[in-house]
Amino acid sequence: MKMLTSAEIRQQFLGFFAERGHAIVPSASLVPADDPTLLFTNAGMNQFKDVFLGVGTRPYKRAADTQKCMRVAGKHNDLEDVGRDTRHHTLFEMLGNWSFGDYYKKEAIAWAWELLTQVWELPKDRLWATCFKDDKGDLETDEEAAGYWRAQPWIDPSHVLYFGRKDNFWEMGDTGPCGPCSEIHYDRGPGACEKQGVPGHTCAVNGDCGRYFEIWNLVFIQYNRVSATQLDSLPAKHVDTGMGFERMVSILQGEDSNYKTDLFTPLMRRTQEMLGHTNAQVEENIVAYRVIADHGRAVTFLIGDGVLPGNVGRSYVLRMILRRAARFGRKIGFTRPFLAGVADAVIETMGQHFTELVTRRDYILRAITDEEERFQRTLDLGLARLDSVLTTLEDQIVPGAEAFKLYDTFGLPLEITRDVAEERGFFVDEQGFQEALAGQREKAKSSEKFEMDDKLLSSYSNALRQLQESGSLGAEGVEHDPYTTTEMETVVIGLLVDGQLVTQAKPGDKVEVILPATPFYVESGGQVADTGMIARLPQEATKADGAALWAIAVSDTRRPVPGLVVHMGEVHSGRPHTGEPCWALVDADRRWDIMRNHTATHLLHSQLRQVLGTHVQQAGSLVAPDRLRFDFTHSAMLTQDELDRVVENVNDLIISNYPVNVHYENYKDAVGSGAMALFGEKYGDVVRVIRTGWPGQELVSQELCGGTHVTMTAEIGPFLVVSEGSVGAGIRRIEAVTGRGARDLILKRFKTMNNAAAYLLCAPDELDRKVQDTLDQLQAAQKELTRIRREMARRDFETLMDSVQTISGVPVVAAQVSVADVDAMREITDWYRARVHSGVIVLGAAIDGRPQIVAAVTEDLTGRGLHAGKLAGAVAKVVGGGGGGKPTLAQAGGRDSKRLAEALVLVPRLVSEALGMGA
Ligand SMILES: [Zn+2]
Ligand SMILES: [Zn+2]
Repeated sequence: MKMLTSAEIRQQFLGFFAERGHAIVPSASLVPADDPTLLFTNAGMNQFKDVFLGVGTRPYKRAADTQKCMRVAGKHNDLEDVGRDTRHHTLFEMLGNWSFGDYYKKEAIAWAWELLTQVWELPKDRLWATCFKDDKGDLETDEEAAGYWRAQPWIDPSHVLYFGRKDNFWEMGDTGPCGPCSEIHYDRGPGACEKQGVPGHTCAVNGDCGRYFEIWNLVFIQYNRVSATQLDSLPAKHVDTGMGFERMVSILQGEDSNYKTDLFTPLMRRTQEMLGHTNAQVEENIVAYRVIADHGRAVTFLIGDGVLPGNVGRSYVLRMILRRAARFGRKIGFTRPFLAGVADAVIETMGQHFTELVTRRDYILRAITDEEERFQRTLDLGLARLDSVLTTLEDQIVPGAEAFKLYDTFGLPLEITRDVAEERGFFVDEQGFQEALAGQREKAKSSEKFEMDDKLLSSYSNALRQLQESGSLGAEGVEHDPYTTTEMETVVIGLLVDGQLVTQAKPGDKVEVILPATPFYVESGGQVADTGMIARLPQEATKADGAALWAIAVSDTRRPVPGLVVHMGEVHSGRPHTGEPCWALVDADRRWDIMRNHTATHLLHSQLRQVLGTHVQQAGSLVAPDRLRFDFTHSAMLTQDELDRVVENVNDLIISNYPVNVHYENYKDAVGSGAMALFGEKYGDVVRVIRTGWPGQELVSQELCGGTHVTMTAEIGPFLVVSEGSVGAGIRRIEAVTGRGARDLILKRFKTMNNAAAYLLCAPDELDRKVQDTLDQLQAAQKELTRIRREMARRDFETLMDSVQTISGVPVVAAQVSVADVDAMREITDWYRARVHSGVIVLGAAIDGRPQIVAAVTEDLTGRGLHAGKLAGAVAKVVGGGGGGKPTLAQAGGRDSKRLAEALVLVPRLVSEALGMGA
């Protein structure tokens, strides 16, 4: 049998199911599109979650795919394990086939057997199947699945086993879809067991050793869990399967380690070439090699899906993984950035299937190198700091606050602090770190949205299901149409207080209102959600607020689960009731501001590409009523000329008054025609394309976009950039205003300029020259002033020298001076010490109405009991203050400058006492 490559194995899986009527769907992005509960896509079923929850549909009933997944930390995968063993990964592929209310156990089991034994020719006696038998005795044993397994050709019936809930029952959460599953295990032979002779080890399926590998899990979704005790049978039953691709490749290529398959060997070979290592050196450093290969894949795919290194959420995970790989690289001899080389090998290996990697190759490589360089700069600093921390510790524990400081101030990820500490026999107080981190997050009130927990999510799905069951909502859920109107006559079908459906609310209640249809926009694609009012109006009334029977001020609009839109707000007046008619009124002025900013964002994007080049890609966007913010890939700061050209071009496009058209079309056609698709966005088969330009002429801009837009560009009004700066690895940020925001800015600036011109007695257009002239004059005057002050101080000093008293042979000056600041006082004491070589001087001055004292003692006298700090302190005490300093120079302040003379009189006595004591 010829050895299959990983690309062939992937293709055979997809081809097998395509032949059996499955739509082959692309992998969803690693950044889940509409799922606030997930940091990363971590299973093949994520992108079909809405179908299983019964709130979404697809145009096909059978599908198959390979899904890129990320698992970091948590119960599934500790980053620590990656590289140390041969089967944990951060990024992996999950092959899956799916039935949405179509085929069921019979076909799923037969096809699994056929693919494994006929196509891939795995030995039948090495395959085992497990079925569900409830260890609690409540649920039905899955004899249906077991029967189908026993019916497969040449299967050994004794290889069909039963296991309980832990292994063979799948649940999405506390409530929701669930069902029994069947796992297929592969026996790698007795030699693969690393626990032989370990007391209590039974070498068998689910025996937790290296001999039996679970290779494929077939989940049969047949129930909906309503509560802990109630399971309802689902009308439509689904199949959801998952096969770990890397593991299957290792079996089919006959390797005992995933890292020895052709998914990883090209990456390790590239690392070896860059280092010039011998094979023996590779073996010596195998853990580092594996870490670099694994993390190199994760980093490449994450950046390919639009994540960039940063300090929160996904961006932090990326930074942490990238820096961990970089650090392992340094350990084995890299002195310069190298990960782009590994990423290049990843793209070569995987790019044929994951074409987004090829399209974004340059961008990925540059982002990696930028971050690596940034890391090298901070690493030296951070490690030096960690070194000094470790040497001062009294016990073996690095305090959490210290680890946090290393992370926060020096950019040293916790994982690296931990690695370094552990190498030297220390531990990190990670609990303390997490507390410090949480404290900071609380302060920053981060905008990241991973707050919604499963419980809340399931209360929303329950509300949606109840509304659908009662007929208030159809299968498609809430009709969301923010495009055609900003006001709509409708009816309240649901009121949620604390996640529970209620029938009535009272003034002051925080509520979430559900309507069968809504014109309110839900935050998406960077455009913020609409706000406004939902109100019941008397029959013939106008929509004026005062006339409303009740009104709810809407401050946010969200889509917590697909199919459900909630308007979050507070009851302003009256008692809204479900079932009542109402008006949904979007704050239209605000919406217009948003639409101007959104269309302007598209024009800005197109002109940045025009002026800077087509490497410019959107990396983030915020479309708010008061401003727009646009992040894009570009490595250098924009020159004033570039920025001017962009602003002029955008304003020209606005004045030309191009039409802005909305098209709905097939994704492939849209992208084929040059429309820009954005990172991190999930696109269905039919996409919405915004095109600006006259039909038949070259388009000014075209983007896939779900946002709301003006109809003609002139409606945007003036466009002004208010700031341009850097936000990280090769990313620039522009903030701009349009329409009313730009009008306000222009008027404000004009007013400021007119006022300034009036003060300076010139015309506004001459302002810059006039300001320059005035600054020149001011500078000249200041120079002159400094010169005069110094001269005066010099004269004062000469006068002071006339008042020198000699106490026990020591020249002493104690005097009040009139100078501008404390520095001048210090300068006089310097002159004095230079002149007398040995002596004491104490000066007092009222500066800005407060007494200041400076005392100086020449070095030779400090040994004779004289101390400048003590002198200054004693004098300051009289004027109601205190202070001190070194034996040779000290400064003190007080409150009552009228008593300065009285205070300074003490000096000769103090000096004589000190000398007396010293003698
Ligand atoms: Zn074993
Ligand atoms: Zn857009």
